[in-house]
Amino acid sequence: MSRAIGPDLYADLVEVASKEGFGEWLSMVRATGGCANPIHLWGESRTLDVSTGEVLRQRDEGRLLVACGNRRASRCRTCSETYRADTYQLIRAGLVGGKNVPNSVRNHARVFATLTAPSFGPVHHFLETQAGRYGRCHPHGTVQCHVRHSPDDLLLGQPLDPTTYDYPNAVIWNALVTRLWPRTVQLANRQSARSLGISQRAWPHLGRVSVAKVAEFQARGLIHFHAVFRLDGPQPGDEPPAGATADVLTDAVHSAAQSAQVIAPLPIFRPVVWGEQLDLRTVDGDMMTDTQVAGYIAKYATKGAGTAGTVDYPLACRDCAGLGRLPGTEAARCRPCHGTGMRYDLDSLQITPHARVMIDTCWSLGGQPSLEHLRLRPWAHMLGFRGHFSTKSRRYSTTLAALRSARRRWRTDEMLRAHGIGAEDADNVIVAGHWTYAGRGYSEGEAVYAATIASDLAENRTLARQVEEDAER
Ligand SMILES: [Zn+2]
Ligand SMILES: [Zn+2]
Ligand SMILES: [Zn+2]
Repeated sequence: MSRAIGPDLYADLVEVASKEGFGEWLSMVRATGGCANPIHLWGESRTLDVSTGEVLRQRDEGRLLVACGNRRASRCRTCSETYRADTYQLIRAGLVGGKNVPNSVRNHARVFATLTAPSFGPVHHFLETQAGRYGRCHPHGTVQCHVRHSPDDLLLGQPLDPTTYDYPNAVIWNALVTRLWPRTVQLANRQSARSLGISQRAWPHLGRVSVAKVAEFQARGLIHFHAVFRLDGPQPGDEPPAGATADVLTDAVHSAAQSAQVIAPLPIFRPVVWGEQLDLRTVDGDMMTDTQVAGYIAKYATKGAGTAGTVDYPLACRDCAGLGRLPGTEAARCRPCHGTGMRYDLDSLQITPHARVMIDTCWSLGGQPSLEHLRLRPWAHMLGFRGHFSTKSRRYSTTLAALRSARRRWRTDEMLRAHGIGAEDADNVIVAGHWTYAGRGYSEGEAVYAATIASDLAENRTLARQVEEDAER
């Protein structure tokens, strides 16, 4: 910790450590993995063996800390690391099997795709010519920029000419990409059937394209998707239809991405389609191994919207959901936001000028009755995108919930084993208790202890991973 310890913090550190039950508190924090913002519950519980009435574990009335479970690394490093590891397992199981996914999926055709938005106007970009050397940003066009941007230049992704940038269509694109995606998957199925000479009616009984994807913000404030497509039989364990090669799948995804479109709610907007920049790679081919793909997707799953220069919390007033008037009324002005629908003063937020205009555009379009269903104001902080950051089709792989409950079950089994109870008798064990919400987070001093625990545990994980990797070699 490089920060100097002030007298207040010092006093708090001493006070926390001298409180009764400090040791128990430390082990509770350790059980959350050193979560940065845990939920506090107050209550008690007992674990009983109902066949004998024996109390296996008694937790007296007191405080319990529960990990926040936040996906974003900007919110909680610990919980986002758990999320990243689980996403990795989930994507990898879908690629090679394991975790209740049959191992035979590794022989199915698999394609890793990156799908991006079209252009809404030229933006500053960097060109890598040779290692460490960059080309000029934009030597052609009406507005020119001759700067050699480096990859960390804050100008990257910002429009060259904000006055001509097509903000309304950019926002509508973010809002409707959540419908463009399922349409693309549907077309990939249709095209696969066509290439294999199977009728659309027979296809669901013979084959299926399973998918998993994560969304990520580009610097220009538009969403793009990293996705795995896998060509299966009707169920993941079934043989794929004859001739279902990686080439068939690549062609099907390519044609789906080129033809998929969603018509915008008003004719003044462009139809929503994918951009020309489409990257398709065969998994297992010369380009990418399944481990690389899983790692890549997992890394993006924990990113927030920070890369797009916006914030990761809603900006709309909570009382009126951004309407400015009370729901169900035409005139009654919402008091908490003074009728603006805004929860914050945008000038006080750390957002880029580009993100600011995207947010303003969400606000003005979101006020149009014909666009209200797109909920642009409640999702203005996401620049109009209101989808999930990671999704998968039901048959692709296991679920995050299944991985979490497996972890919980493992802990319970440990406890039962300690009491000499086998898995076959576990049905006789119940947990009875009641808990109420009692706040969040830490005091300044507590946060220091929690951060220390989090970094110790992170170090242990890194060591364990190294041992595992060495063993695989
Ligand atoms: Zn957490
Ligand atoms: Zn430039
Ligand atoms: Zn309001």
